[in-house]
This record gives sequence, structure tokens and C-alpha cells, in this order.
Amino acid sequence: MIQPWQTALFSRLSGRRQALPHALLLHGRVGLGKTDFALTLAQSLLCETPQDSGEACGQCAACRWFDAGHHPDFRWVSLREEEPTEDDAATEGKIKKAPTQIGVDAIRALSGFMTTSTHRQGMRIVLIAPADALNANAANALLKTLEEPLPDTLMMLVSDEPGRLAATIRSRCQNVCFDMPPAVEAEAWLAQQGIKEAPLFLALAGGAPLEAQRLAMQDTGLRAALLRQLSSPEASLTQLSEQAIKMPTPEWIGWLQRLAHDLVEQKLIGRPRYHLDFSEALGHMAQQADLYDLLSWEHQLREARCLAQHPLNARLLAESLLVPMLAMR
Ligand SMILES: [Zn+2]
Repeated sequence: MIQPWQTALFSRLSGRRQALPHALLLHGRVGLGKTDFALTLAQSLLCETPQDSGEACGQCAACRWFDAGHHPDFRWVSLREEEPTEDDAATEGKIKKAPTQIGVDAIRALSGFMTTSTHRQGMRIVLIAPADALNANAANALLKTLEEPLPDTLMMLVSDEPGRLAATIRSRCQNVCFDMPPAVEAEAWLAQQGIKEAPLFLALAGGAPLEAQRLAMQDTGLRAALLRQLSSPEASLTQLSEQAIKMPTPEWIGWLQRLAHDLVEQKLIGRPRYHLDFSEALGHMAQQADLYDLLSWEHQLREARCLAQHPLNARLLAESLLVPMLAMR
């Protein structure tokens, strides 16, 4: 699907179907719709009777195969087939085996696909999303492919954090940056999707509309309850950690990160960036907190977020990350 903030980019790329580079790196913040964009672009490039707008017809044999997930000239390398079916809270205390990396085998498995001729005499497309998940060996194997481009073959990499990709890979792709849409446009789109309090959720998502939509649909009062509890002296560490680990680990750490960031901003510039609806309570908390403590808590949360895909014990992790907060209030 092409979102309103992507139409110009889509026209630019689909209009160059005869002259695209051999590799594109689509990058930008989480929640801008990069992977959906890449899939739509791939389908439009493989479509055998594209519309004047460049979009796929949705009717031809190629489109039907693509929609069914088995176009013979398209491969999507991702983590999705082995993604977990239960969230972290439900499996607290257990080690989960969901992959967090794309390994070298996934890249090697492309070799047959890459070296035989295409089935439909059109393009051959490989989508690697999330490319940030490529491990070092997979990245090396991919580099060889990028160094020896094949005719009529397009590699598309999608990345939220291109800084995590090897510089050698980045330099062999044409970089396509997804910019944040203007807030007015994003808020109008969210309102069209039926999201109430669009400005609040857009702020919570750092300006990314699809992330704002996801947060709004996920928000069942848990965020507000957590914020209220954090500022209430009665709430115990156990209560707070129980509340937190009802969410998947990266989610609740994300909420604590937003809170820490807001307290720092409140202290330095007098207003929050994310929790616009809690500015009074945040102001009160920020007054009592020491800036150095806030910054070191923020640092601790950032490190935990990087390492905490599958914590051995979510409750212990939650308690260790909440203690600095409770000491401040
Ligand atoms: Zn078609």
C-alpha cells in the first residue's frame, strides 16, 4: 500500500523501472511504512500490465502470484516465518527461540534463484527486510552479491537503523531516505483512520504516522495507568513491574524511555515531547528529580532496550529498570 506521504517517492522510483540501480536501501524511522512500500514497489515492477500511475494492475498473472505470496521471480528474506506467536509477558521466565538475526544460510539460499533465468522474462527482485537483522556472515555473503550485480535484478534492503549496516553494504546501494511527513498531514491521515487524539499519539510515536496508529490501537489505558502509578508514592515496585510486563519487553522499555526523555526535557526546556497529556505530573516529577540521575536512567534504559529482546526474567529486568525511577519520586 502506498501511503499519502509516499506518493511522490513511489512515482519517482516506479517511473524509473527501466533505469533503476541494482540495489536500493530504503531507510527511515519505524512507523513510516517502508516494508509495505517496498512490497508495493516490487509488485508494481513485476506487474505485466501496470497502470499509468505506475501501480500494479492487481489482475495479471504476475499480480495474482504476488498476492498469493509465490511469484517465481520474487524472494523476501526476513524473520517473519519464525516470529513468536506469544508475547514476552506470556512466556516470562523462559528463553524464547525466536530469531533476531538473518543468518548466512538465508542469503546462500538465494544463489539458485539468482543464477537461473527469470520465469517471466521480467525483473528478478529480492527484498531483505529487516536488513538490520543481517548478521556479520550474512552481510558478507550479501556483499558478494552486491559487488557483482546481475542484469534485470533488483535488491531492496529495508532498514530502520542504517547505521547498524556495514558501511560496505550501504555504499553499494542507492540510499532512499523516508522523511517524516509534516505533522498536519500525518494528523489528518490519523483522523481519517478514526484515531482520536491524533496529535497526542503522533507525539508519542515521534511523528511517524503508522507507529502512532499502532500505539493508539494498542493503548488500552495501560500507558496512563503506568504513568499515574509512577507518580504515585503508594505504588510498590512489585505492582509497577507486574503492570509493565503485561506488555512485550521492548514495548514497556519503550514507554519508560519516553518517560525518561520527557522528564529530561521537562527539566531542561519545561515541556514534554511525548506525553503531552501528562505535562503537569511530569513537571512535578521533574522538579524532584536530579538531572544526573535522569540521564543515567535514560542511559540504562537505552542499553536494556538493545539487549532485551528475550530477557531471561522479565520481572527482574523490570524491577531493575524501575528502581532508579522510584528512587527519584
Ligand atoms: Zn499486474
